[in-house]
Amino acid sequence: MENEALYGGIEGGGTKFVCAVGTGPDDIRAETRFPTTTPAETLARAIAFFRQNPVASLGVACFGPLDPDPRSPTYGRILATPKPGWADVDVAGALAAALGVRVAFDTDVNGAALAEWRWGAARDCDPVVYVTIGTGIGGGLLVGGGLVHGLLHPEMGHVRIPHDTVRDPFPGACPFHGDCFEGLASGVAIERRWGQRAETLPADHPAWELEARYVGLALANYVCTLAPQKIVVGGGVAQQPQVLPLVRRHARDILGGYIRSPHVAGRIDEYIVPPALGGRAGVLGAIALARTLAAAR
Ligand code: ADP
Ligand code: ZN
Repeated sequence: MENEALYGGIEGGGTKFVCAVGTGPDDIRAETRFPTTTPAETLARAIAFFRQNPVASLGVACFGPLDPDPRSPTYGRILATPKPGWADVDVAGALAAALGVRVAFDTDVNGAALAEWRWGAARDCDPVVYVTIGTGIGGGLLVGGGLVHGLLHPEMGHVRIPHDTVRDPFPGACPFHGDCFEGLASGVAIERRWGQRAETLPADHPAWELEARYVGLALANYVCTLAPQKIVVGGGVAQQPQVLPLVRRHARDILGGYIRSPHVAGRIDEYIVPPALGGRAGVLGAIALARTLAAAR
């Protein structure tokens, strides 16, 4: 263990950054967290931490949208984020230049999918979908042991799902699409629809059946298009204990007995699961990205 290379991970969130050094879940040697402020100040704090705690390579699992394609001229940058000051910021480039290490750059949810596959709830499963239901909604996708990029990266939060405007007249909160999945089911959507934050709604509030139906519809679409062997659902809204059981019931009803896999028919509570790494999936995902980069050298 002493001589094993150390990897660095940065979970770049919209509200906080978490930086850690280590090799995996049982071996974190140093960790720090600080609020996400301006890019200059936030990246300077990350750089100062890794100057004190040197690493062989660095992984960054970041809020998006972003450019994860190393061959692209805008690689390493955050793209059209509404987060003030962060659009077009060259996150990976700034870190690589200041620290002199190779930097792997991907979405927070792709990182979490990788960490859950490597160390958590999705070991021995492939493909793996990791969905977060938080302030926004995003999904990461691992296929054949690698993370899916393609055009940029999957945008599973912005798929379209049926919206019964009689039952739910809320027009949706997505600035691009209105009533896409994120527009209907994110923490922001719940707060705007019901006039209070999701965590303050009682467990028997009708909000939760509606939420579970929307999440169930989206997951059923992922089941049909991606054939995942495991779906991991994280994020603050999914921490509400009644949410995942309701989501499983809706997803199974929506699939209507068509997918003849024992995972869906019988053991759906082992198929749609919470993250085994909990709140650490993000920063561990970043360390997993750094390890993957080192292995590809
Ligand atoms: P983020 O998506 O910003 O990275 P989270 O995953 O913690 O962070 O999601 C924050 C969202 O989740 C907020 O909209 C908040 O209202 C909601 N939320 C946080 N905790 C809970 C909870 N226990 N129950 C329901 N909703 C929650
Ligand atoms: Zn949208």
